[in-house]
Amino acid sequence: MRLCVARPDGSIEIRDGLRPAARSGRRLVPLTPADVIPLPEGATVAHLPGRRAIGLDARGDPVELAGLRAPVAAILPVGYLRTLLPASRPGPGSPRLPLFGYAALAERNGELVVAALGTDTFEWWQPCHHGTAGLPEAVDAARHALPGNRLVDHLARCALEYRCYTAQNTFFRRYEAALPASPACNADCLGCISLQSDGAVPSPQERMGFAPTVAELAGLAGHFLEGDEAAIVSFGQGCEGEALTRSRAVVEATAAIRAHNPAATIHVNTNGSRPRVLERMVAAGCDSVRISAISFTESVFRAYYRPVGYGLQEVIECGRVMRRSGGQVCLNLLAFPGITDTPSELEATIAACAEMGVDQIQWRSLNVDHDWLIDELPPMEEGMGMAIAMETVRRRLPGVAHGNFTRPVAHPG
Ligand code: SF4
Repeated sequence: MRLCVARPDGSIEIRDGLRPAARSGRRLVPLTPADVIPLPEGATVAHLPGRRAIGLDARGDPVELAGLRAPVAAILPVGYLRTLLPASRPGPGSPRLPLFGYAALAERNGELVVAALGTDTFEWWQPCHHGTAGLPEAVDAARHALPGNRLVDHLARCALEYRCYTAQNTFFRRYEAALPASPACNADCLGCISLQSDGAVPSPQERMGFAPTVAELAGLAGHFLEGDEAAIVSFGQGCEGEALTRSRAVVEATAAIRAHNPAATIHVNTNGSRPRVLERMVAAGCDSVRISAISFTESVFRAYYRPVGYGLQEVIECGRVMRRSGGQVCLNLLAFPGITDTPSELEATIAACAEMGVDQIQWRSLNVDHDWLIDELPPMEEGMGMAIAMETVRRRLPGVAHGNFTRPVAHPG
């Protein structure tokens, strides 16, 4: 395998004589054939401005590339998990990187390869099923069916401009729909994709600027669930804050949706901050939750989430609430090589999953500037490798499924 770098015009240069390296947290490691897969369809290649690429010489010693060559990295499509970071070092004053999950990239026998694992092939989320053909007409149909519903205009932008698959599916009335509920959040995550509170990088999505009414939420859900392939309605989206902070609205909307749709999966993606609100949603008919977490150790959790008025106890209690009701519990594990796969993090994650009664772990690459994140978090031990970490979780929690996407809940009858 050979090192790749970017020329100033953006094209990729293969460096003969230098072997590729990668990083787990801060630690430099060789990038080996066992670490990589061919660059998957839908992946993009990005250069890392203001950083220096690092390769390995014949003896395995690191070589930092000076001059006009920038490091490159792959940004993976959904369904793949990054296992190693690009080997690079930020120069003085280098800008913070936009919010993507950068993965180590190299060349092998004329093709690009990336440090990654395929984690989910669920048909609903294949890129070939998404696009904007027929979408304006589907948006118009929603506008006609739901006059004055502000969620239609909000999600039309997500679907058409940001090309959000969930928003597109909402209008195509299939699979899983977005029901964004809250403009506010009780956390300030370093990698929040709807609001970067220090403004150093743009957030890829714009935070919803209004609080939808119960009628708007239930109306959109009702329109969606008339679709033949419609299965899940999901509160808690990338374009909003925290759905559970809209306690009355999400509880009443859940009850209204459930009253007319006994077979639908009513799901909420959440930071897990408000178990008592989730309990009321469950009583109203919510049967699936996905709780996001970077870590179940207090210092890492707090440094990343910067939560206001809640902690890990509440996050774990949210899992227990859904487990007690018999509904589906998913963990959205914000995975990062050199954090998630350290022994103490992994132990804490396994223990939390057991306590929460997790059915499925969704392994998602955390989209954030890796060097900035590492500087913001406490020092970490050495990671064991993401593939070994995943294997360890499989062995220790044998009943738990692993993937990337939420499935509908099966309803008897
Ligand atoms: S919990 Fe979600 S909405 Fe709130 S700050 Fe974190 S990522 Fe953003």
